Amino acid sequence: MDMTENYLYFLDNKPYINITNICTNKCVFCIRNQKNDVQGANLWLEKDNALSKDIINQIEENKDKVLSAGEIVFCGYGEPLVKIDEVVDICKYLKSNYPDLKIRINTNGHANYIHKRNVAPELAPYIDNISISLNGENEEIYNKISNPQIENAYEEVKRFIRACVEEKIPTTASIVTDVPNYPVNKERCEIIAKSLGAKFRAREFIKNGY
Ligand code: SF4
Repeated sequence: MDMTENYLYFLDNKPYINITNICTNKCVFCIRNQKNDVQGANLWLEKDNALSKDIINQIEENKDKVLSAGEIVFCGYGEPLVKIDEVVDICKYLKSNYPDLKIRINTNGHANYIHKRNVAPELAPYIDNISISLNGENEEIYNKISNPQIENAYEEVKRFIRACVEEKIPTTASIVTDVPNYPVNKERCEIIAKSLGAKFRAREFIKNGY
């Protein structure tokens, strides 16, 4: 068996960084509940002990393909901001070597709770966009959809959205619609996103895929 960890994968020629399996949610729509691979890339990290340089090396090995995409996204099997120090290291490296490459982070918004500090200022100098999973219009819906493993997760997510907006990071609050058995009120979510100063994005649940 090939034990190489897949820290970098491509979907429709767009590069994504898969930095950890760890997540503080268990979303009903999470791809992890469905399968070990995304379009053929096995994303389950056997050791899950990535160093920044391991990820940078994989990016360098695929440099042409990464740069021609124009944007790289932190989004894998787990929550990227669990590994905040590595994320910041990689972003610093990318911005100093490839200033035209845009960087986006897709996150569950729990980072400030996890690290017991506001990490938004650490990210702000380097990232071009952040997409934060709002997932619902209130705590009850959020908990049903996301099954958070931390306390007051919904309030944390909203606080994190606001913290990113305050740092002037272009911030999007997102929801997934059409999740079986969990109706989400799209209009109310959009109002909440806007009230926090964020943009809003709804994407449809795709069974068996991203
Ligand atoms: S936050 Fe993302 S990685 Fe974590 S359980 Fe939800 S969909 Fe999966």
